[in-house]
Order: sequence, then C-alpha cells, then structure tokens
Amino acid sequence: MTLSFDLTTEGARDALRARAAPEKPSLIGLTRAELAEALVASGTVPERQAKMRAQQLWHWMYVRGVSDFAGMFNISKDLRAELDKHFTVARPEIVEEQISSDGTRKWLFRFPPRGAGRPVEIETVYIPEEGRGTLCISSQVGCTLTCSFCHTGTQKLVRNLTAEEILAQLLTARDRLGDFPDRDTPDGAIVPAEGRKVSNIVMMGMGEPLYNFEAVKKALLIASDGDGLSLSKRRITLSTSGVVPEIFRTGEEIGVMLAISLHATNDDLRDLLVPINKKYPLKELIAACRAYPGLSNARRITFEYVMLKDVNDSIEDAKGLIKLLKGIPAKINLIPFNPWPGTNYQCSDWETIEKFADYINNAGYASPIRTPRGRDILAACGQLKSESERMRKVDRLALEAMMIAGHGEA
Ligand code: SAH
Ligand code: SF4
Repeated sequence: MTLSFDLTTEGARDALRARAAPEKPSLIGLTRAELAEALVASGTVPERQAKMRAQQLWHWMYVRGVSDFAGMFNISKDLRAELDKHFTVARPEIVEEQISSDGTRKWLFRFPPRGAGRPVEIETVYIPEEGRGTLCISSQVGCTLTCSFCHTGTQKLVRNLTAEEILAQLLTARDRLGDFPDRDTPDGAIVPAEGRKVSNIVMMGMGEPLYNFEAVKKALLIASDGDGLSLSKRRITLSTSGVVPEIFRTGEEIGVMLAISLHATNDDLRDLLVPINKKYPLKELIAACRAYPGLSNARRITFEYVMLKDVNDSIEDAKGLIKLLKGIPAKINLIPFNPWPGTNYQCSDWETIEKFADYINNAGYASPIRTPRGRDILAACGQLKSESERMRKVDRLALEAMMIAGHGEA
C-alpha cells in the first residue's frame, strides 16, 4: 500500500502561498559569521550582542528545530517580533509526501524562484533500516549531465539549490519524522528502533553535487556542526559522477565520505554510460580517488556500480573492477538498475548479480547488493524527477508492470 498526501488542493495551495509570501530572507544556511552580520545589518541586534544572538538562534534552528521565531522562548518578545519583521526560519512548501509500503518516504518540495524564473520542485527520500535512517538529498533541480541509465539525467538543469534549500530538506524531513527534541514521531511511521530517525545523509538525490560545490559545502558544514545538527562527517556521503577537479577539495574542505558513480571499468563503456568520463577519464578519476584526503581502511571510498543486463555485468567486468581499484580502500555497492519508462536498459538477472557479487567478495571486497527501496513511489536511485515532468498515470502503471516482471520485490 502506498500512502500519498497531495497538498495540491487549491485551498491548501493558497494557504501555503499566503504563508510563504512576502519573501523575507531566511536565516537558514548562513554561516555563524554571516548570521551575526545579517542581524547587525538589519538593525535588529546591536553589534556587541551579535555573536551571542547568532549562537542563540543557531541553537533554536539546528538543535531544537524551531521553524518560527515565536518558539524561541529565551529571546524577548520584542526581539522575536523584530526578527520576524526582517527574516524567516520557515520550512519550504511540501507539495506531496508519499509513504511506500516499505516505509520509504518521498517528499516533493517547492522552492521559490531565485531571481527570474519559476518556482522549482525537487525530491528528497528517506530510507529507514534496522539501525539507521538515511536521507537522500538533492543538490540541483535536474542535472546538466546525461548519464544514459539515469532518469534525472533526462531532465535539463533548471538551477542549483542554495545552501538553505539543501538544509531545508534535512530540517523538514526531521520535522515530519519527529526527529527533534520534544517532538513525536507520527503513528505507524517506520523508523529505526532507537537513536536518531535521520542518522545518515547521502548527497545522492537529483543533481551533481560537485557542480554546486559552494552551496553543498556550506550546507554540509552546517549539517555536521557539533553545536547544531551535529551529524558525524562519517555519516555523510557525497556521491559524484566524477567531477575530478573538485574531488580533492571535497575531502579537504568538507571532509565527508566519498562515493563515486563508477558503473564501468573501461573508458569506452564509461563514455557511453557516464558521459562526463570523456572530460575526466578513468585514469584521472582513479588518481583523484587515491589522493582523497583522509582515505584509510576505516574511511573507504564507495564505488557505485549499477547492474545493467548484458552491458557491464560479466565476470570479465568484475575482474576489470578489481584490477582498477587495486590498492584503494574501497567498498563496492552493486545497485540493481531501476527501470523507468522509455529506458533501453534492463536490470541484470538476479543470478548474474549474485555471481558478480561473489567474485568481488572473493577478491576481498565487501559488496552489498543494494536492495531497491520505495520502488512503488518511484523513490529509488535514478528515478527522481520533479513535478514539472511528473509521470503520466499510464507511464506509472507501465513502470509498475515492469517492476513486477523484473524481480517482483516492489
Ligand atoms: N549525480 C550524482 C549523485 C546522484 S545519483 C552521481 O551521479 O553520483 C545517485 C546514484 O544512483 C548514482 O550512483 C547513479 O549513477 C545511480 N543511478 C542513477 N540512475 C539509476 C538507475 N536508473 N538505477 C540505479 N541506479 C541509478
Ligand atoms: Fe546526473 Fe548523477 Fe543522474 Fe548522472 S547519475 S545524470 S550525474 S544525477
């Protein structure tokens, strides 16, 4: 059973719009120094108090998860009113929330236009497991790259998300899951038995995070700030298709775990599957991986490998993979291909995937096969695509039929 809350009735839309307008600048996504500066520049806070007030707000926004100045009880009423005149800490509009039969949740968020253009919509996915809850965050609206097996890649890039919008995905997910102090988790929600509901984040939603480096960096440094959202950098993974010049900086300046969308072990095939390979071929990509700051057996790079039937799934390919990664502390994630209407690819047979995984295991690598999650709500890897191009019902039905014919795990 899939639950879907459509917030698109006219009344709900209008109410949300009214709440969203007029647009005041958000305090979410600013560094501490920028936050202090904004408070002073608006005339809300005298310079000598700026640092203290910034710290106070930081706590309310990121530890307590408050989305309204009115809830900031240790700040005087007058100051709260002043802050509210100039700024906002509100959440974005949730257009739709879908809950899969396996507990996976997908949100469709709408963000206002930045400058010219139209409002944009992006998707964020929550995947609960036994001991952890992973949030898959988007970094761009669409993607400039055109990986041939990826649904997002068929959508043109509309724009980069801001640091505020990247963080808003995390904050809103935590709101909806009751993952802030003094909040209740909704009845019936599937979440980890203990600990945080969102314990891990992966930059694996829509877009190429390293083509939006500054905003992603800012957002991830705030997400991992020890006096705020406080997620360990080991529990944050950034996935890139291979933007080589930014890989070193990712380790040096952000310090999170790295995942590489590899998918092929020779340039000819990778050029076809992940066309950025033409610009940064495997040799350069692998050299950048070897030089990744902080790399060790305890901090391995994850190599993602989508299993495409008769394309990259032979034992020869598995051998090539082991050879290519020799000497790099690595984990290999085998991802069964998630089909979408219009694709020419098929997922490898289960038996082939298992053989491939066994070969890699025997070579000494952990190689979990990533179980597809949330397929019934199109939340799986590479299936994210926003409302502007939301699927027609007939396509959705075709997809469901394909999924059942494919492996039936849906
Ligand atoms: N743009 C970044 C991050 C987002 S994609 C990147 O490419 O790394 C997250 C992962 O899903 C990538 O490894 C991507 O290659 C994979 N993926 C894309 N489409 C897929 C599909 N249809 N089936 C399975 N995995 C897919
Ligand atoms: Fe973009 Fe990643 Fe999809 Fe490639 S796999 S098109 S880089 S989102």
